[in-house]
Amino acid sequence: MAKDPRTTPRAVKAPHGAHVMEMTWADGHKSVLPHEVLRGYCPCAHCQGHGGTISFVPGGDLELREIEQVGTYALTLTWGDGHSSGIYTYEYLRALCHCPACLPETQFPLPKEGETT
Ligand SMILES: [Zn+2]
Ligand SMILES: [Zn+2]
Repeated sequence: MAKDPRTTPRAVKAPHGAHVMEMTWADGHKSVLPHEVLRGYCPCAHCQGHGGTISFVPGGDLELREIEQVGTYALTLTWGDGHSSGIYTYEYLRALCHCPACLPETQFPLPKEGETT
C-alpha cells in the first residue's frame, strides 16, 4: 500500500501553553488542530460509545500533556486529567484539520452555542 502524502506526517508541534497542535504533512499542508476539537472528538469508546458515529463531546481537561506515536499510523494524546485512550489515526487527524482552508468543509465542527469552556 503506497503511503498517501496527505496522511503522512512530517512534523507535529504542540508548544507548551498553546491551544492548538500543528501538524505538517508530506504534501506540504499545515494542519491546525485546536485542543478543544481534538478532545471533543476523542475517538475512544469511552467518549464516543459504540454508536459508530463520531460526535462532539464537551468537557474534559483541554491541556495536552503528551503526544505518543502508535506504530506508523496514529497518535495517542494524553490530557491533563489523564485521559489517553483515544487513538487518532493520521487520516482522522487530517480530517480534523481546522486551518482556514479546511475549516469551511470540516465534518468535525465545534459546537456553535458556546457551551464549551
Ligand atoms: Zn476519549
Ligand atoms: Zn487544513
